[in-house]
Amino acid sequence: MNLRVLGCATPFPRRNEPCSGYLISAGRSTLLLDCGSGVFGELIECINPNDLSAIWISHLHPDHFADMPAVANWALNTDDAKKIRVYGPEGWDRRLDYFLSGDEGSGLSKSIFEVGYIADGMVVDIGQLQVTSHAVRHSVLTFGARIESNEGSIAYSGDTGPCEALADLASGVDLLLCEAGAEKESEYHLTAQQAYDLAVSSHVGRLLLTHVPSEQKNSDLTKFDALPVELARPRTKWII
Ligand SMILES: [Zn+2]
Repeated sequence: MNLRVLGCATPFPRRNEPCSGYLISAGRSTLLLDCGSGVFGELIECINPNDLSAIWISHLHPDHFADMPAVANWALNTDDAKKIRVYGPEGWDRRLDYFLSGDEGSGLSKSIFEVGYIADGMVVDIGQLQVTSHAVRHSVLTFGARIESNEGSIAYSGDTGPCEALADLASGVDLLLCEAGAEKESEYHLTAQQAYDLAVSSHVGRLLLTHVPSEQKNSDLTKFDALPVELARPRTKWII
């Protein structure tokens, strides 16, 4: 099972640093988790979108969703584009319809993609990957995902403040990809310390901190010594 970070910048992309986008694969199944600003250009360096098994969107903030119009434009301008399965919070397709056509009822997204909505506790099989979605705590409807295959397991927090769902989401996974977007404790994001505490209490194998604002990227991680802890970086791959 592989995790490739396409981008993890927040809240806006920089040159060569897209916002949230992660490719998770096992065997011939590949899932794109989130499609934030700048992700599509990085994605097509790694994979033909026709080879994606699905796209899963945690929430509709721009740093997690804003490159879906680019995926749509790829599909509309590619003769052999397949209908990619896309899961996201209810209404994601109408949001995209409005962006693409100025009419949220145009149905354009449904003509381009296989549209699915995420619900709390929903379990879907995406090829060799089983994805369980958990509602987490953020300023808009947001989900985290637990992804399991016969090769291992990865949990992705989405954007979230502290909440009960995180224990189930992360319990015993090989790798926890956890946001650490807050400098101080807050309602809608975690600090690096809170992400670490979650990883320890959930007995995860390793912790990858992501969605870390650039001004916090120099913070000392050596104090987190109960398990391997690293910062996510674009164009980097982790093998489980
Ligand atoms: Zn967010």
